[in-house]
Amino acid sequence: MKFRAAVLRQPGTPLTIETIEATRLQPDDVLVKVAAAGLCHTDLEVIEGQLVYPMPIVLGHETAGTIEDVGSAVDRKRIGERVVLSWNPHCGHCFHCERDQPILCDSYIGHGPQAVQIDGTTRLTLNGEALRTMFYIAGFAEYAIVTSACAIAMPADMPLDRACLIGCGVMTGVGAALNIAQLGYGESVMVIGCGAVGLSAVQGVRMAGAGTIVAVDRNRERLAMARTMGATHTAAVPDEDAVAVAKGATQGRGVDCVLESAGNGPAFRLSAEACRTGGQIVWLGKTGVNEDVSFRWGSLMGEKRIVRSSYGGARPNRDFPMLAKAYLAGKLDLDSYVTARIGLGDINQGFADLKAGKGIRSVIQF
Ligand SMILES: [Zn+2]
Ligand SMILES: [Zn+2]
Repeated sequence: MKFRAAVLRQPGTPLTIETIEATRLQPDDVLVKVAAAGLCHTDLEVIEGQLVYPMPIVLGHETAGTIEDVGSAVDRKRIGERVVLSWNPHCGHCFHCERDQPILCDSYIGHGPQAVQIDGTTRLTLNGEALRTMFYIAGFAEYAIVTSACAIAMPADMPLDRACLIGCGVMTGVGAALNIAQLGYGESVMVIGCGAVGLSAVQGVRMAGAGTIVAVDRNRERLAMARTMGATHTAAVPDEDAVAVAKGATQGRGVDCVLESAGNGPAFRLSAEACRTGGQIVWLGKTGVNEDVSFRWGSLMGEKRIVRSSYGGARPNRDFPMLAKAYLAGKLDLDSYVTARIGLGDINQGFADLKAGKGIRSVIQF
């Protein structure tokens, strides 16, 4: 079959809308008619060349749609199911899967840098040339072919243009709060960076019962949004001293937990400085893998625990429906994230806005 997709041929060049071709479904595949796809920072890292993948490639990994066909090994009853796609296919039985760390699965990590499907092949071609698949999804296209375990059913009344956000940013932020940080009721938390992931972390710690939530960002509009989502205190850096705000809210001790989602040296340093002795730090943001980040050694002492999390400890079958139900119950705001609804042809402008820090999420509607 043929359909339209946004294709990246070289880092630093615009995506082009092409008519691409897909092979037949493999036994465990599902064909998803894409309804909506969010533009995430990780896509931008590939476009800018910080994250290196083979090209040409179809990006997009924050995707929701409807199952239109299934491979021979998949229950045909799934046709018609509304789904959000997970970007972490995993085998379930390798060293890390057995240790409850599917994000480190040998097959997942092994095939990731090649940007192919989990079986090591690709389903997509452009004029006969193989196309690579971002994060096992390739969601900036009218159709996506994924392994069936990565297509997670949504409640029938879940709107897909907001459901797609669950697939990456929301899972990463809310999951870090609910699955990774071990928060006690009423505890104090700082969230650094208030993009989609950070705002989701704010909502996640609120859902976990945090008593004090200090949101930190450079952008005051985003801090205002963080307030509507549960932040009790804000610090607009660099004008305001975030460590002083954290200490002022905690009798001078520093916060019990810091969730960092900004991904730069000053933010990582702040995470250590604002954390109380004996507290915990969760790093969600990232800088270039060959970049150094320096710390004042004393800020790392005092029995602090530091953990890195890249997908919020996601167990998609467990967590995606939970997040959808929280949305439908009015306990998780997803509506405010969608600051632009765009067509596939507007994708380059969408990424320009993301780079400029305009809005929170642009969502492509098909
Ligand atoms: Zn993402
Ligand atoms: Zn595995």
